[in-house]
Amino acid sequence: MNVLVESSNPQIFERMRAQKISFAGFPTPIQRMPRLSELLAGPNLFIKRDDMTDLAFGGNKARKLEFIFADAKNKGADVIISTGAVQSNCATMVASASRRLGMKPVLVLVGEEPDVPDGNLLLDKLLSAEIHFIDGYGPHVEGFMNHLANEFREKGHKPYVIPVGASVPSTVPGYALAMEELVNQFRGVIDYVVCACGTGGTQAGLVFGAKLLDAKTEVLGASVFASKADASKTVAGLGNGAAELFGVDVSVVPGEVAVFDDYIKQGYGVLNTEVTDALKLMAATEGIFLDPVYTGKAMVMLIDLVKKGYFKKDDNIVFFHTGGLPEIFLYRNKLGKA
Ligand SMILES: *Cc1c(COP(=O)(O)O)cnc(C)c1O
Repeated sequence: MNVLVESSNPQIFERMRAQKISFAGFPTPIQRMPRLSELLAGPNLFIKRDDMTDLAFGGNKARKLEFIFADAKNKGADVIISTGAVQSNCATMVASASRRLGMKPVLVLVGEEPDVPDGNLLLDKLLSAEIHFIDGYGPHVEGFMNHLANEFREKGHKPYVIPVGASVPSTVPGYALAMEELVNQFRGVIDYVVCACGTGGTQAGLVFGAKLLDAKTEVLGASVFASKADASKTVAGLGNGAAELFGVDVSVVPGEVAVFDDYIKQGYGVLNTEVTDALKLMAATEGIFLDPVYTGKAMVMLIDLVKKGYFKKDDNIVFFHTGGLPEIFLYRNKLGKA
């Protein structure tokens, strides 16, 4: 690979690359958003198309799963057990990755089984994942995954458990490498990167990557469920965990993590008119679809910050499209009437 970046930590990116397998089709495209930039009369807006990663219907989990599945493969795993909400993007991508590596996917999905499978759950069924439904988040979910793992072990299998959102220090390099990829593609100053923040691994990786590259880029996260205090702690913890894992002298303090909780509004996954408007604006100006749960809220944040004058007119801003598109169809009743 042709690395153009002058990095203060040149070998660490090589070391991170050595820890992963490749199945997700990188680099993803970077595109200008000229009509959206003009309409908002704001800075120069770009989009990094991580909705086009080559796993299931695309999304950010592909970059993390390259690390997890490298580890699973090394350990000889033949059964992959993971969890998430019934409509989890991560769970579907885990199931897809499992199939691509000849492993059996087992999903513990939090919530009730709907009468008609739709969105990601429909994809899970097409992937013939073994699905268990469970009530509520909490330690009992991990307990149940471990119980399933023991059952598989007793039958002579080698199970491997992936935690929620695949956000652990070992997967943080996924988005550090994405930052490196972006900087190499962009070849100019990127003032800000904007992303949605759920379990924190994406923002942690981008922040970690920016630090390793000595890039002046500020990473702005739109939290979709956690308070600013909790999200910044999670992001810093993951970044520091990765720094420790790779033995680099980089630290992230919660106070410097720029994450906003102002756009969660009515709650995780709850569609409001700002999100609907953002989805429609993006489609009408750039022909690109956003999802209602993550990227829609992150776009509401970007639009709001532009309108509030947060950025300078000549700033370059890259919006990370992190995927989630199978969820659009679940909101047909509200989106279809807008
Ligand atoms: C999981 C997810 C995110 C959030 O990523 P984290 O690393 O969990 O913060 C953002 N967008 C989409 C579409 C996702 O599925």
